[in-house]
Amino acid sequence: MQLIRSIDELKNALSNLDKTIGYVPTMGALHDGHRSLIKKAKEQNEFCIVSDFVNPSQFLPNEDLENYPRNESEDIKTCESCGVDVLFMPSSDEMYPSNDVKIIAPTSLSTKLEGATRPGHFDGVLTVLNKFFNLISPNRVYFGKKDAQQLLIVQKMIKTTFKNIELIPCDIVRGADGLALSSRNSYLDEEEKLEALKLYRALLKANELIKNGEFSTKVIKEQMRAVLEPIKIDYVEITDRELNSVEKVTMENTLILIAAYIGKTRLIDNLWI
Ligand code: AMP
Repeated sequence: MQLIRSIDELKNALSNLDKTIGYVPTMGALHDGHRSLIKKAKEQNEFCIVSDFVNPSQFLPNEDLENYPRNESEDIKTCESCGVDVLFMPSSDEMYPSNDVKIIAPTSLSTKLEGATRPGHFDGVLTVLNKFFNLISPNRVYFGKKDAQQLLIVQKMIKTTFKNIELIPCDIVRGADGLALSSRNSYLDEEEKLEALKLYRALLKANELIKNGEFSTKVIKEQMRAVLEPIKIDYVEITDRELNSVEKVTMENTLILIAAYIGKTRLIDNLWI
């Protein structure tokens, strides 16, 4: 595996490469969710690149940029053991020279849900991905359904600006207890981890209701909120795949999304129906 920190080195490594490239963008502190994306990228492509970069432009001033979990040496070992070909770990200065341009995400998708609480977050996500996609020119990119809104917004950018890239959505990986794996789970103590399971239970509740023929999103959301009690909820939403709120669940075109605070930690989880 090549561990690369500079853009020039990366360009060099890719200059005469005649192989299909699968690319997995991450912010590090790698876990089995990330591993599943890497595994798929390895299976479907001849060459696998992972970026490991805590992207400052997607954090709001009051968020956890400084404290975001980082574990460089473990991440290197993980990528080596997964058979990654290039691990790109640039510094912020490398990715953000002064007087830099910024990409603005489509407001119809980026100002609701995560974007309502985290204004500008998706502009930062697209800005850094735009750089990575241009540098790497991957054939396929791998995104987790865990970050549903991110996946849909990146899909829009790819459809309009990176027509040669295929986005591969990857299923949410959960712990044995059902908790969706997340780098931010490391903030939780044992008691909070148990509380966090309510997010998954609320999604299971929604799934059960739908299986029993309940399609009213008002009813489903009420029952989900009851399961989540007494957690501080940011949102419980049911939308179509364009992120518009819907009154009735439609099979194959519905997203059920939760954001909630466990102590100071903000967690998200969702279910694709
Ligand atoms: P992050 O490092 O949190 O920015 O995540 C990098 C990629 O891994 C994103 O596409 C995430 O959606 C994906 N990811 C994070 N957690 C999970 C998970 N539990 N299951 C599947 N994919 C995940």
